[in-house]
Amino acid sequence: MRVATLAPEFVESFPSTLEPGVLYVSIEFTTCAHLCACGCGEEVFTPLSPAQWSFAFNGRDISMRPSIGNWTLPCQSHYIIERGRVTWSYQFTKEQIAANRARDRRALRTRDEPEAAHEASEAAISQEQENKRTNRFWTRMWSHIWGG
Ligand SMILES: [Zn+2]
Repeated sequence: MRVATLAPEFVESFPSTLEPGVLYVSIEFTTCAHLCACGCGEEVFTPLSPAQWSFAFNGRDISMRPSIGNWTLPCQSHYIIERGRVTWSYQFTKEQIAANRARDRRALRTRDEPEAAHEASEAAISQEQENKRTNRFWTRMWSHIWGG
């Protein structure tokens, strides 16, 4: 059964059995852990680092960035944890991935850049965009938290 909310629990180390609906936070190990929100029972570990996950705690609920994309699990679930609530995100199909690639290539031709160069930088560009989005999110989040 899908879990709609994740309640934070601050721990030093993770219990051997994770409870559904709980988002464990270990500052000691700079990692969060929870059971996949789809209910499949798989443990999901999200390391906290500038290149990986970050969380914001408002005293009651946690928001995590970026989204949780469990591509490596059989369920392949993808969701966002926002103020303790689980919001399900898109699940790319092979067709969608192919369509996005084709759209990128079309956009590229109008800019008259070599296609091969674009292919190589495609991942870097999307990562950069993601970082910018994340930074904007955190700027807002921090000014909200600190009232700045
Ligand atoms: Zn799952």
